[in-house]
Amino acid sequence: MTFDHSQLKNAGDILVVDDTLENLYFLKNVLTDAGYRVRPAIDGELALRSVQAKHPALILLDIRMPGMDGFEVCRRLKADENTRSIPVIFASAMTDVSDKVKGFELGAVDYVTKPLNAKEVLMRVATHLSLFMAQRQLQQQNRQLREAIEQAEAGNRALKLAEQQLAAYSENLEQIVAERTLALAEANQKLRELSEHDELTGIANRRKFDAVWQYECKRVSRLGTSLAVIMIDIDHFKEYNDYYGHQCGDVCLQQVAKAMASKVQRASDLLARYGGEEFVVILIGITEADARQMAESIRASVEELAIPHPKNSAAAVVTISLGLAFWPSALKYNSFALLAEADSRLYQAKHAGRNQVV
Ligand SMILES: [Mg+2]
Repeated sequence: MTFDHSQLKNAGDILVVDDTLENLYFLKNVLTDAGYRVRPAIDGELALRSVQAKHPALILLDIRMPGMDGFEVCRRLKADENTRSIPVIFASAMTDVSDKVKGFELGAVDYVTKPLNAKEVLMRVATHLSLFMAQRQLQQQNRQLREAIEQAEAGNRALKLAEQQLAAYSENLEQIVAERTLALAEANQKLRELSEHDELTGIANRRKFDAVWQYECKRVSRLGTSLAVIMIDIDHFKEYNDYYGHQCGDVCLQQVAKAMASKVQRASDLLARYGGEEFVVILIGITEADARQMAESIRASVEELAIPHPKNSAAAVVTISLGLAFWPSALKYNSFALLAEADSRLYQAKHAGRNQVV
């Protein structure tokens, strides 16, 4: 059976080491004829130098050589990580079993005895080159597999990191949304308070009054309960402002509002600044007598503040005049007429000498 060596030519050079030229030529010719590229070396040191210059695919190594023998060459090759894997086949005339054993112990893959047989040499060379190539291919596949695994692992790590970042981002986003929602609710609340309250006195403003007034008039009309509205005006407030200045006027408005608010305490009642020095009170579900008493107590609370007012014709202190309209005793009225009635009574109180309820 003939072996096709051509497929093994690409494995690389075969280094042939022998101090006997006859053997060297024999091996070189046999291998070259079979299609291999052959590099000869005449002694151990040249062999090592040749290996370092370019790694051969296989080494046929004579044991007995002057100077460095084959065992030493093999030992050095196996000691070097870079040359350790190059297969070494020993060749020697000796048939001593202990030398064969020693050769294998040093890492040789095979052994041929002299006189050399061409066919045997070719078969052993082919066998070990095939093994060497298969091994190299396996190592390459292992390397590729390892690289593929590393890439997959790197991909997994990147994916995991991205997931963590996404989770953190999502959590952060939820927090931001929650914070913004809270801020918006607070801003809305603040806006609502601003839109319903008088900035100077802190009590309800005209807008709030209008809304409550329309709502309560409809409700009272539907349920048939009672309602009182009191229009209030600070007496000679223009003169107070002229005399003390607007800053004092503002402080006076605040004090008067605070005193009146202390009397309008029921949850259903409302005290609002109607405009300028005018105020208005809504009292729900109250008798006319109680409403009148409430108006009187509001009037007294302002007088008791005892804020000096030299230009007041009614007293030496700041006072208020009040006009009270009551439902249902004035059933003919609608919400507008009822307010007009309170306003008209306020006018009467002014004319009657101020600091009083009409
Ligand atoms: Mg020799």
